[in-house]
Amino acid sequence: MEESSVNKNASFGEMQAQWAAVRGKIRQKIGDGPFKSWIKPLSLVDFNKGTIVLSVPNNFIRTRLLEEYSELLKELWLNQNKNVRSIEIILLENNLDFKKNKFESEKKFEKKKSYDLTDNIGASLDQRFTFTNFIVGKPNELAFAAARRVAESEDVPFNPLFLYGGVGLGKTHLMHAIAHEIKRRNPLRRVIYLSAEKFMYHFIKALRFKNTVAFKEQFRTVDVLMIDDVQFISGKDSTQEEFFHTFNALVDQNKQLIISADKSPQDLEGIEERMRSRLGWGLVADIHPLTYELRLSILQAKEDKLEVQIPDNVLEFLAHKITTNVRELEGALNRIAAFSSLVGRQINIEMTHDLLRDLLKSSQRKVNIEQIQKKVSENFNVKMSDMSSARRSRTVVRPRQIAMYLSKSLTSRSLPEIGRRFGNRDHTTVIHAVKKVEELRNIDVSFDEDVELLIRMLES
Ligand code: ADP
Ligand code: MG
Repeated sequence: MEESSVNKNASFGEMQAQWAAVRGKIRQKIGDGPFKSWIKPLSLVDFNKGTIVLSVPNNFIRTRLLEEYSELLKELWLNQNKNVRSIEIILLENNLDFKKNKFESEKKFEKKKSYDLTDNIGASLDQRFTFTNFIVGKPNELAFAAARRVAESEDVPFNPLFLYGGVGLGKTHLMHAIAHEIKRRNPLRRVIYLSAEKFMYHFIKALRFKNTVAFKEQFRTVDVLMIDDVQFISGKDSTQEEFFHTFNALVDQNKQLIISADKSPQDLEGIEERMRSRLGWGLVADIHPLTYELRLSILQAKEDKLEVQIPDNVLEFLAHKITTNVRELEGALNRIAAFSSLVGRQINIEMTHDLLRDLLKSSQRKVNIEQIQKKVSENFNVKMSDMSSARRSRTVVRPRQIAMYLSKSLTSRSLPEIGRRFGNRDHTTVIHAVKKVEELRNIDVSFDEDVELLIRMLES
């Protein structure tokens, strides 16, 4: 980056050397931590008529630099070079334009300045979290459709849109996708995305500095406000109060609100009643735990983007074993891909087992054979004793096979031991049961869903 944005005039090499010295000095002064966070991201872009132009990757860092370090920077630079008059800090995106058309970028930068407040409070968006990258299946289709609807509407189709679901199921992804899409369609619409925690943090800071008016002002000019993980403001009375007012004010002005949480409004704890009911006024869309199909589609989609190829049976294995959430699926896939490219050969199930031992263990709950037998008999309406009986009628054979299969996949018991627990059967009977159930899961969707449901019940 530094290389390419260098203005190739004669003194630039000198300026680079001075910049290196300034960085060294400032590092000594403020310490490694702050240096890494605030100074290291800076690049020298230009030196023109006494003005040094530095670039930063985002507005958050820029603001902090202006508030806290610009004086120090100037002072240290003056020690190196008497001609320095001022330091200007621009955003990296402007820096890129800078090379193309300096004048344009300055104009753009001027315009940008007035947006500082809002840009500042919102968190930055993950470029990968788009609608195109979001894989849709039964568990998330409602949330996805609602998100698209909000992003594509000129007006406010429902207020608020309340998205909820367990961790790692795509709530944040959908919110960012809405923001990207709205900005793509109409760059002038003002979107703020921030976590409830950050909302709280800014509010408390505003209280401390007695400028809650300015705090409120930041939201007044917004078109779309998204607050992620709202469960974090539960119990924090003053923040809740403020959030409630902000919320009401924005809804009254017909501004779009999008809220996410890990639970439905009714189930959120430590939230005032009026708040709870208000949150449920618009559209409440939940993301259900992922099904096997969706897990597999997500893995396949992510695999397509990888440099290395991962065999189908490994993907299927992952989709079977890692049931918790997409984040863990991604983690597992990335680990396998990294390993595969390191060793330079295709990965197989055994290697996957070894590589993911920790992950597989953590998603393996402590369920025992007896619990499995009990759950399965309840579910299929057979007697618990039939799990070990000699009866061979179809109504008990299939549930028994399922219970054996679950014992094999959910516990660490050996095949002979499982056989013993099912009325002293031979381990080959267990192998047969496991094969049979696997086969049925592959060809019969509703059977597969039944088994999936059992697994989920046993896991929770
Ligand atoms: P949450 O906010 O619900 O905890 P995130 O939105 O952070 O979950 O999702 C966790 C990870 O899983 C992210 O990397 C996200 O891109 C990915 N992810 C979640 N759902 C999907 C999906 N349906 N398709 C593709 N990726 C997904
Ligand atoms: Mg999230």
